[in-house]
Amino acid sequence: MSNPHHINPYAFFPRKNQLLKSVALPPTNYCELLGRDLEADRISVNYCECEQCPLMPTVKESVCCFDLLKASTKWAKNWTNFIGETDECFTNHKKIIKAITDVEQLDNFIQFDKLRLKEKARYTRSIYIDEYDVAEENDKYRFACYRMITMMIHDNLGIGKRVQLPACIVTSVRNIYPTETEVYKGFEEFCSADD
Ligand SMILES: [Zn+2]
Ligand SMILES: [Zn+2]
Repeated sequence: MSNPHHINPYAFFPRKNQLLKSVALPPTNYCELLGRDLEADRISVNYCECEQCPLMPTVKESVCCFDLLKASTKWAKNWTNFIGETDECFTNHKKIIKAITDVEQLDNFIQFDKLRLKEKARYTRSIYIDEYDVAEENDKYRFACYRMITMMIHDNLGIGKRVQLPACIVTSVRNIYPTETEVYKGFEEFCSADD
């Protein structure tokens, strides 16, 4: 008996080579902070105009604070509102300097942030992991600097949202709180106010 609604269940199953194609997506260099694709050669040419950003291992990390002055995303606007008119690297801003160097303020922030992270875990019914419970003291302070600066600039980002920091800021944090192992986690380390 012929079935008018006969469906061959495998008719649209992609062939093996199509599957492979869909898996091998080209790497995207879309930068949410700037709202555009970044040039692939940023890891080999000097993309920096503030004179404080080193060459970074990935294109996505290669964002200069001056790039933010030319961008129109809400993230870039948050930065320019915070920094105000400037022709200097954002790392020279006094609130940024204080955020990075004032250890007492960082210790207070860590206490406050742990409560926030605990509250977030309760709210999302997930297990609370103390992200400040790390092997090296400097790891804790780098993490705190990234989170505190992100909260200062962007206020509350919303659950699960991450936004990176410009390379000059990341570098000045790393210079003050270097890791003993010299291995940095890159973008994942820019754990932001994602709660
Ligand atoms: Zn720069
Ligand atoms: Zn800069």
